[in-house]
Amino acid sequence: MNALLSVSDKTGIVDFARGLHALGIRLLSTGGTAALLAKEGLPVTEVAEVTGFPEMLDGRVKTLHPKVHGGLLARRDLPEHMAALAEHGIETIDLLVVNLYPFEATVARPGCTLEDAIENIDIGGPAMVRSAAKNWKDVGVLTDASQYAEVLAELQAGELSKKTRFALSVAAFNRISQYDGAISDYLSQIQEDGSHALFPGQSNGRFIKLQDLRYGENPHQQAAFYRDLYPAPGSLVTAKQLQGKELSYNNIADADAAWECVKSFELPACVIVKHANPCGVAVGRDALEAYSKAFQTDPTSAFGGIIAFNQPVDAAAAQAVSRQFVEVLMAPGFSAEALEIFKAKANVRLLEIALPPGGDTAWAQGRNAMDVKRIGSGLLLQTADNRELTLAELKVVTKVQPTPQQLQDLLFAWKVAKYVKSNAIVFCKDGMTMGVGAGQMSRLDSARIASIKAEHAKLSLAGTAVASDAFFPFRDGLDVVVDAGASCVIQPGGSMRDPEVIAAADERGVAMVFSGVRHFRH
Ligand code: 5GP
Repeated sequence: MNALLSVSDKTGIVDFARGLHALGIRLLSTGGTAALLAKEGLPVTEVAEVTGFPEMLDGRVKTLHPKVHGGLLARRDLPEHMAALAEHGIETIDLLVVNLYPFEATVARPGCTLEDAIENIDIGGPAMVRSAAKNWKDVGVLTDASQYAEVLAELQAGELSKKTRFALSVAAFNRISQYDGAISDYLSQIQEDGSHALFPGQSNGRFIKLQDLRYGENPHQQAAFYRDLYPAPGSLVTAKQLQGKELSYNNIADADAAWECVKSFELPACVIVKHANPCGVAVGRDALEAYSKAFQTDPTSAFGGIIAFNQPVDAAAAQAVSRQFVEVLMAPGFSAEALEIFKAKANVRLLEIALPPGGDTAWAQGRNAMDVKRIGSGLLLQTADNRELTLAELKVVTKVQPTPQQLQDLLFAWKVAKYVKSNAIVFCKDGMTMGVGAGQMSRLDSARIASIKAEHAKLSLAGTAVASDAFFPFRDGLDVVVDAGASCVIQPGGSMRDPEVIAAADERGVAMVFSGVRHFRH
């Protein structure tokens, strides 16, 4: 019986070869592997001797020869195949042990050049693995050192079972597919001069598993966490966890919602999320002020919240946050004192995430270019809701003109409403949410809930700016928010009854602007 051993990672190969030799199996091998085995005192025949051809072209051609592939591929049950081997003086190879050039490790190294990568694409190794795996009925193929012990034990007990040979063949094809995937992934994101060529924010459809999660949205659901192969800089999956318990499925989903919202602000901002909705958002002079304002919106809901900052957390902000029960706290950085403060709260999960570089593309904003939603046996795909509104786009539709301060508040409210589940009604004042109504089937109910929440938090809605993520289909929604105290309103417009709603705003003496954009979020 002949075994061919050709491995880049030589871990465990000597012991395994010694075991094979003890069973009377003849060892064939390529340059480096053969040299190692010979040095360890094992009798080994170089493949070059078998093929009658030297290894050449810097090892690019070593085993690509009919004497090797004939020996691997011949069907032992077909007399014609065996006759062909005899005619050409080819011996069967019954066991193949190959692990491939370390392509994945090479491209993972910082500073890896295109040339390094190319030289680490194994050609002969995968070819042999495929030959052996295809002919699994007659050949055992090992592609990983973790398989040595079991295979050796089985050989020592007699021969490899059909079941084992098939399992080895499947494992071999899986390995080759993974290897080819790594090559294709690497080359897909590089240009011919070796520079990077990433599509802005675009996933190439490949994901890497970051971890299995303890459970999903509920304890009876299984779950795992994946990231895009090439995540956008500044996206949640690039976060580094500094302390705290393992993130849960809901933690991750909520953290993503909070992070997406907070990074849309330029001023120091804080976002507190519960069940995927912001329950408090504010901008301020610094992290402390932004947090204090955000917390005031809805202190009850903020309990156990997910809190995101768009700038480093200092000692003052850390002190303030540590007074409440917090599940996850994320920021672009933490001062040494802040870290010290959270050390006493070992359960708080601290995530450090760099802000995205900024710019017009989804990639530069650390966002996905595409959104995916799974439905029964299908999926819905859409470009992400990356639309940002500027002051110049606002259209005043009422007799009353909003003041510059009101315009600021309206834009702030609009930004927040984009991250609130529909139907969204958001009351704001002075860079702070004053009441958030989320996720209701009726816009009217969202408006009512927002004002009830303000009441609970003992906030006055008098003189607030209010944003509605979609148009008011009737004047009643507008009446509810004005009754609650709103003095200006932003909404997309575009309803059949716009004239009725505008007339209502004029009648109530409030300013209203149309954004021309809708932000449904489901
Ligand atoms: P060694 O260290 O024994 O010289 O080389 C082992 C490595 O060479 C293994 O990773 C194996 O997959 C690879 N290999 C075997 N045959 C060939 C071949 O013909 N061409 C190339 N490029 N690599 C090969």
